[in-house]
Amino acid sequence: MFQYLTYYEHILIIRLNEEFGMARPINCRRVASMPQANYFKPRGIPLSELEEVILTIDEFEAIRLADLENLYQEQAAEKMKISRPTFGRIIDSAHKKVAEALVKGKALKIEGGEFEMAEMRKFKCYECQHTWELPYGTGRPETCPSCKSNKIRRAEEERGYGRGLGRGQGRGCARTQQK
Ligand SMILES: [Zn+2]
Repeated sequence: MFQYLTYYEHILIIRLNEEFGMARPINCRRVASMPQANYFKPRGIPLSELEEVILTIDEFEAIRLADLENLYQEQAAEKMKISRPTFGRIIDSAHKKVAEALVKGKALKIEGGEFEMAEMRKFKCYECQHTWELPYGTGRPETCPSCKSNKIRRAEEERGYGRGLGRGQGRGCARTQQK
């Protein structure tokens, strides 16, 4: 439920930005995946003593692309529609924050930043009913990532939670203050 909430809030931020005609920043970072959990807390430290590190959504995306998908900085920068030096700065900052949380026993909160959501295409597998999403511009998948069947199709009619809010998604750039 938590991830839906944050996703929904994110959409609202985009809508508000559009509503008030905020200028689109030049360096709006494209993000294809929102965090599934946005708070990581070390066990055994009382909340009153707990310090937080804020990892922004664009930093989170940089970690996903570089460290999980093993993309070169060039490729990752391209996916986020930013320059390689900008990507380099984002990933450095992200690594520093994660290290700080791990080493100093701080909580890691993922929120905010400067980004826009990539527009997603949804696919469904006939064999196992698995559904998944891919951002536009990544090419059509050949097989189901779950069962490897090639009996797959677009599934636009089944929109996920938080979708269908209109044109806002993927267009505006959410921008919140970095703490
Ligand atoms: Zn399948």
